[in-house]
Amino acid sequence: MGSNSIRWIESDDLQRMNLDILKETIAKDVQDGCRPMMVIGTAGDVSTGVVDDLSGIAAICKSHDLWFHVDGAYGAPAAIVPRVKDQFKGLEEADSIALDPHKWLYCPLEAGCALVKNPQHLIDTFSSQPEYYNFNIGDEGLTHNFYEYGLQNSRGFRALKVWLTLKQIGREGYVKTIEEDIALSELLYELAVAHPELEAVSQNLSITTLRYVPLRGIPEGEEEPYLNTLNEELLNELQLGGEAFLSNAVIKKKYCLRSCIVNFRTTEEDIRETVELIVKLGRKAHNH
Ligand SMILES: *Cc1c(COP(=O)(O)O)cnc(C)c1O
Repeated sequence: MGSNSIRWIESDDLQRMNLDILKETIAKDVQDGCRPMMVIGTAGDVSTGVVDDLSGIAAICKSHDLWFHVDGAYGAPAAIVPRVKDQFKGLEEADSIALDPHKWLYCPLEAGCALVKNPQHLIDTFSSQPEYYNFNIGDEGLTHNFYEYGLQNSRGFRALKVWLTLKQIGREGYVKTIEEDIALSELLYELAVAHPELEAVSQNLSITTLRYVPLRGIPEGEEEPYLNTLNEELLNELQLGGEAFLSNAVIKKKYCLRSCIVNFRTTEEDIRETVELIVKLGRKAHNH
């Protein structure tokens, strides 16, 4: 259908999908003779880790007979952690969920996954039975032919590493390790709050964003462009340095450093060292 059929819905002050705008956009499309078919909510935004109001989106989808898909590629596994699970209310109403086991389920790259509430939809969409396929053998009815559930015919056994990791870590293990990742991210945020040369910008799930702000010497009247360029240079140095890897996020026009912790080996020491490193490289970029 092409990207012209996508409507991008603005977010509100909390960085969640603005549901009033969603409703207005659906109404306008219907009025114009277009036919909305699906709403995609996010459970763990790439930049900020924010989770949309999934219950609210689900209700809108129900009243307009729309498919409700949730992009939980990064964040969905946190729904089992008691401390944050309220944020995910409504996730269970999704028709489908995208989930990347290579992120917060700690599987090796790559293992992408789509969970669909009613598997018959997959078969109806993808199944094909050319005459040279002879896969339905025996009297048991339909055998499990995974090619009927997606685009791919020949496939590697990616499911093995996902299954093995689930078995090894188990539900309790995930609650513990995911909770630890969140706590480390909160620590990073608190350290940034406490540091006079850092501005803590956001913290949700295990994603923290922050930026370096020098104490003095910022060109007057050009504060924001200067800080954006400075933090971009800082991030390039950090990434090339090989000691820590942060990515970037642009939040309310601020260029930020973005830390996303999805490794059960990350320690408090790593977080403290990362803060020192950011300040060191920030000073260097500012003074050169
Ligand atoms: C990582 C991520 C993606 C992209 O996933 P890939 O496996 O890299 O294709 C999409 N959405 C969200 C929310 C993500 O975190």
